[in-house]
Amino acid sequence: MNAQRKYPPAPEEMTFEPKVLVVGGGASGILSAEKAAELGLSVVLIEKTEELGGKAAQLSFLYQSNLSPSQWLKDKISSLEKNNKVTIYTNSQLEKVNGQVGNFKVTLNIEGKKEEMDIGAIIMATGMDLSSKMPAQVEKGAGSFLSQMEFEKQFTQLASGDSKTFVLVVKEDDFLIGCINALKYSKKLKEANHNVYVFFDEMKVSEEGTEKLYHQVREEGVTFIRGTNNLKIGQEEGKFSLTTIDPQLPVKLAKELVINFDYYIFNEDLLPGADTGKLAEILRVNLGPGGFFQEDNYHTEPVYSNRQGIYFVGACRMPDLLHNVQEQAGAAVNSIYQLSVADVKELMEKTPLIDVIKCAYCLTCYRSCPWNAIDLLYEIEGAAWDGAPYLHPLACQKCGCCVAECPNRAISFPGYTDEDMQKEFKKIGGKV
Ligand code: SF4
Ligand code: SF4
Repeated sequence: MNAQRKYPPAPEEMTFEPKVLVVGGGASGILSAEKAAELGLSVVLIEKTEELGGKAAQLSFLYQSNLSPSQWLKDKISSLEKNNKVTIYTNSQLEKVNGQVGNFKVTLNIEGKKEEMDIGAIIMATGMDLSSKMPAQVEKGAGSFLSQMEFEKQFTQLASGDSKTFVLVVKEDDFLIGCINALKYSKKLKEANHNVYVFFDEMKVSEEGTEKLYHQVREEGVTFIRGTNNLKIGQEEGKFSLTTIDPQLPVKLAKELVINFDYYIFNEDLLPGADTGKLAEILRVNLGPGGFFQEDNYHTEPVYSNRQGIYFVGACRMPDLLHNVQEQAGAAVNSIYQLSVADVKELMEKTPLIDVIKCAYCLTCYRSCPWNAIDLLYEIEGAAWDGAPYLHPLACQKCGCCVAECPNRAISFPGYTDEDMQKEFKKIGGKV
């Protein structure tokens, strides 16, 4: 029985609200909003603090770009503010999400007031948090010890004046960004005639141009030393020194290396934003093992979530460089656009069907759908119970999990119902 067609909305009744909610007003949110508006979609951009910009506003310069981050942001924000497709709310947060792709019903808290709106798709661009731990031997607050972000904020001031010695330490448990920062600082510091030592565990040069930059700064006199575990910091008459043994040398040749330094710059731990868990519950999306939004989804579909119509852009899923974030924003918006023009009738013809007479309303399918694509509808004519599940054609990925899990065999792919299979079986002489 083709029951599903009787009770859910007819294909022509299923519309896609051409409005995108972007959550987070940092660089990734700004780029996402800009891309969506370019494609003609209306955009609501919400930011929980009182101004747009996020962490990018604290950067001094960008990797492989002469753009000034503050000027870049200023220009982008001003152009978004003038764009009549984009509405910006600061001091605002996402509180509730119901419905499915095309017609999410979201509740926002806008400066303390609740507002509900219909949204076609959601782009999460909530960024990450940083945690800086001072090296164990140093008392907190010593002005010579700075995390990379603290260093960025004071870069111009610290890099000016007489030649000084900078030690850059990049610990292994970093996601590429610490290495790239160390390389970009090395280049700028060398240009300003300073001495630079980089201590690292693994130098990650997978990003385009990083290997070349690594060789370039080495040739310009930056010293790279592998190993960050045995660094000993000493202090005498207000001067700091770093002692280590080069782990690359054979034991017999190994001797202590002592570097007197003016500044010690270390990479922060990169953490998921404080609200990530709460937002994942509101959105019914998965978190990755590190607590970011699905960071383990990197190599297949980086910006996709396990729910159609919800996307992750930028550091909320994994810290990344600005040009990559730009591509992610483009990928998310293109996917939204394709969904907005999808042929729902054609999709319905491929979506599994529920026989509401057979359905015992046990909700096994609802719980087992990995894409959270099943809604519950009530007062269904002909249904054995008050309600029945509804497989949303845009949200459903046609994976068949619900078909396999239904204990009453009430779900089947079109053309593969028990009756269809019996007919086929009879055609080849089988007896049923
Ligand atoms: S698993 Fe089957 S019986 Fe249970 S609610 Fe879903 S369709 Fe109905
Ligand atoms: S086919 Fe897969 S994606 Fe579609 S409703 Fe069933 S379990 Fe969910």
